[in-house]
Amino acid sequence: MSQFLREPVSTLPGLGGIKAALLRSELGIVTVGDLIQHYPYRYVDKTLIRTIRDVLTNPDTALVQGILSPFQYQGHGHKKRLVAYLRDGTGTLELVWFKGGKVIEGVLQPGQAYTAYGKIQRFRGKATLVHPEMELLRTATSPRDLTFDPIYSTTEGLSKKGLDTKGIRKLLRAVIPRITPGLVPETLPSELLSTLRLPGRVDAIRNIHFPPSQQALEDARKRLKFEELLFLQLDILLSKKHRNRELVGYVFDAVGEHFNRFYAEFLPFALTEAQKRVMREIRRDLGMGSQMNRLLQGDVGSGKTVVALMAMLIALDNGYQSCLVAPTEILAQQHFQSLKDLVRGMGIQIGLLTGSVTGQARKLTLQYLAEGRLHILIGTHAVLEDPVIFQQLGLAITDEQHRFGVAQRAALWKKSTPHPPHVLVMTATPIPRTLALTIYGDLDVSIIDELPPGRKPIKTELWYENKRLRLIGFMKEQIAAGRQVYIVYPLIEESASLDLLNLEEGLSSLQREFQRPEYQISVVHGRMASADKEMEMQRFQNKETQIMVATTVIEVGVNIPNASIMVIENAERFGLSQLHQLRGRVGRGADQSYCILMTNGRLSDDARIRLQTMCRTNDGFEIADVDLKLRGPGDLEGTRQSGVQGLKIADLREDGAILQSARTIAAKIVDADEHLEQPANLCLKRHLQETRPHNRTWSRIS
Ligand code: ADP
Ligand code: MG
Repeated sequence: MSQFLREPVSTLPGLGGIKAALLRSELGIVTVGDLIQHYPYRYVDKTLIRTIRDVLTNPDTALVQGILSPFQYQGHGHKKRLVAYLRDGTGTLELVWFKGGKVIEGVLQPGQAYTAYGKIQRFRGKATLVHPEMELLRTATSPRDLTFDPIYSTTEGLSKKGLDTKGIRKLLRAVIPRITPGLVPETLPSELLSTLRLPGRVDAIRNIHFPPSQQALEDARKRLKFEELLFLQLDILLSKKHRNRELVGYVFDAVGEHFNRFYAEFLPFALTEAQKRVMREIRRDLGMGSQMNRLLQGDVGSGKTVVALMAMLIALDNGYQSCLVAPTEILAQQHFQSLKDLVRGMGIQIGLLTGSVTGQARKLTLQYLAEGRLHILIGTHAVLEDPVIFQQLGLAITDEQHRFGVAQRAALWKKSTPHPPHVLVMTATPIPRTLALTIYGDLDVSIIDELPPGRKPIKTELWYENKRLRLIGFMKEQIAAGRQVYIVYPLIEESASLDLLNLEEGLSSLQREFQRPEYQISVVHGRMASADKEMEMQRFQNKETQIMVATTVIEVGVNIPNASIMVIENAERFGLSQLHQLRGRVGRGADQSYCILMTNGRLSDDARIRLQTMCRTNDGFEIADVDLKLRGPGDLEGTRQSGVQGLKIADLREDGAILQSARTIAAKIVDADEHLEQPANLCLKRHLQETRPHNRTWSRIS
């Protein structure tokens, strides 16, 4: 970075100590470089002057021009206001100031021509501009230079000191003309600029603040977004490259007896192409000699469990233990059961460790684990605790990553010496690939993007309260045909008691419709003891009950193929990815499955989009895209740790295409020149070193 960009803003004329301190505390602006990167968040298009008549019929945000009338005060007390009129030959517009009348009177000159800009408001049948932005025209007939005026975000504190959007604009008007390529060096190789037809950095910065035209503004935005995303991707890819080289891991080069025997004799189905591809990726990681850190993304029901198992068999074939950690006791139980079923007869020892494994059972499990008599340990967070000692842990798998923090992953790392175990993180929350690569920067990403064959797509419908009777009839029909039904109530986090009430009300009306002994109902909710939850789940799984009433505790992972109807009450209260997760509990068997979204009909726009999306598609990635558009990436798990929060101009929701291109180009650069030594890449390296000094990689490769 040049000296110029590093200068504190307090060296700029008119920015005394107080203002500079405020800029720092309120907007984080310390240096001239920071100020230049305080990009406008919108622009006032002053290239289009409308006639007052037009504005009166279509009230909107508008720019008009005309002759200012003399001022007058109207009203009394706190309603007292300064009023004037602007006339342009087609009509008359009222201008009103509720505050600062004295100043306005002193500055604006009646009889002169002005432009006025603002949002036209309808007030008692009249069109009014309240607190318009006024600018003097030199002559009434020759309009001044028409431009896009930048609007900057600011704060009340700053505005009081004169640094409102106009004040900030004035600062930038003084600074921007001074920038030259000597003071603000180019950060992108010139070849790249010409291939992508992007403006140089100085032009982009000038034009983002004071665009001479719409096109220049768009080019500037594109360039600055691209630059930001390219450096983010370079940072991620280079760190990953250097880290992989450094983090030595166990080498699992044998694919031996257990793996092969399982594949040939025990695997109950053919793997999908996607599962095979992911297995290859995992095998390559495990054999390479560096530690694996891989995220396995796959939609609900895509078959991640068997992939996890096969990875664990590779570990076993190489003399290492593995563990699989699930977020809830129910899930751990279920994994334990289904893995045991899959390898029954192979002589593989699998243990279970959860909070409710206590006393002698716990003691033995821990002992066998330490002695190496257990090959695989399934459990909850209990596995991470200190007394849990493996003889030789080689592979740690976590299911449903979004409940797992970085700290917990770190705890897993410590369970093995001399190297950390290989780590596989599984998640059923699909997010678009480029975004995954960005957000989970520290992980490699594998994706299962294909469901096992023969699945019947789940039929999803939105039903209003008036179909309640039909719902009951439908449930009875399906139960008579041998199916089971989930009914899910929203968890109302701000009110634990309301939550239960909601479920209990639903339950008692259900009990009237579905009476014993013909019908049996299970209930599971978050405030039950885990042993009770477990028992209820078990009863449902054993088909002793036909209906499972639950809050969202069944959200992740549970696998009961005979349950083919999912009813979601107050569906409008659920987030999109949550709805998709819930729906994923059905559609696991051979029968046609249904998901019925119940709602009382008062839907917000977002809720409507969520429910319509659910009815339209079963595709988790498509759903993730919509979710991302509705909520923004800030809400996605993992965004906080990534550099994504620091983006000043790029928006991951909207700039997918630019992100993709930045990713591709960054990968090419890193492959060809991982130390950024080629002359053309020196500008990249310099910028990385300056802007990301916290990144150890940069100090090492410099
Ligand atoms: P998830 O990815 O949601 O964890 P699971 O691993 O629970 O999915 O798999 C869902 C169901 O699909 C399980 O019953 C599993 O046995 C089955 N399954 C997995 N892979 C295949 C396959 N290739 N062919 C057929 N069924 C499969
Ligand atoms: Mg699963």
